[in-house]
Amino acid sequence: MFKPFPASFLLIVLLAPMATAELVLSLQSRSKAQPDRVVTVKKTWRADQTALIICDMWDDHWCKSAARRVEEMTGPLNEVVKKVRDQGVLIIHAPSSVVDFYKGTPQRRYAQNVPFVKPPIKLSTKNRWGTKWCWPDPDFEGVLPIDDSDMGCSCKDPKCEIREAWTRQIKGIEIFEGDAITDHGQETFNLLAAKKVENVILCGVHLNMCVLGRPFGIRQMVKLGKNVALMRDMTDTMYNPQRPPGVDHFTGTDLVVAHVERYWCPTFTSADLTGKKAFRFAADKR
Ligand SMILES: [Zn+2]
Repeated sequence: MFKPFPASFLLIVLLAPMATAELVLSLQSRSKAQPDRVVTVKKTWRADQTALIICDMWDDHWCKSAARRVEEMTGPLNEVVKKVRDQGVLIIHAPSSVVDFYKGTPQRRYAQNVPFVKPPIKLSTKNRWGTKWCWPDPDFEGVLPIDDSDMGCSCKDPKCEIREAWTRQIKGIEIFEGDAITDHGQETFNLLAAKKVENVILCGVHLNMCVLGRPFGIRQMVKLGKNVALMRDMTDTMYNPQRPPGVDHFTGTDLVVAHVERYWCPTFTSADLTGKKAFRFAADKR
């Protein structure tokens, strides 16, 4: 005989709050005064109040080594993106200077059409080449621990020639309904405001340049007062080991990660999100 649930039971089910997915992160940081001491704090972020910004994971790069490393990182990064998207994290694809490739797509229009919200501070301004950039700020940070003044081609001879090699985001990072595409500081701020996002995870390349300096990058997000964290195994640098401090490429990246932890924001690895091992480049033989 069919026995209906008692009405009180149904009421409890209907009123039970939707479970909100949470991200439990082991956030690693350093103080300005004691940079050699690593402090790790467990923090829980609500997934629906968090954005993941994917910086400049382009389809190609003028430096062949840099392009190879992006390709290697793409599959593992896409797995992380899929996982957190399903949990309710807002995914912002930020392939700088090539967002027009996505002109007219729902994800590009989403970023363009979300209502304007006035930011609490003036957003980053144009540099002398006309690119919007959040420059190193001596009030916030010391000089970068690596010399990237040669733009950081890590190839042995021949060295790569600088050119505009990118046309779009690398295909392996999937773009889904509900994601946004922008490289624009104001559009990024509007998106975060519309979704009431207070927590921002940065990943992608290159840490010593775009991940720190873009108008959606670490410096700008910290200055806007967001809780910012770098996913440190899902990034890379432009660093030529022939330049100071003369360490191998991956140690150079670690030095920049430590710089970020000291001056800007904590870091964590994708293992916190996937439960799997953190990503490591095959050429990293340390
Ligand atoms: Zn190169």
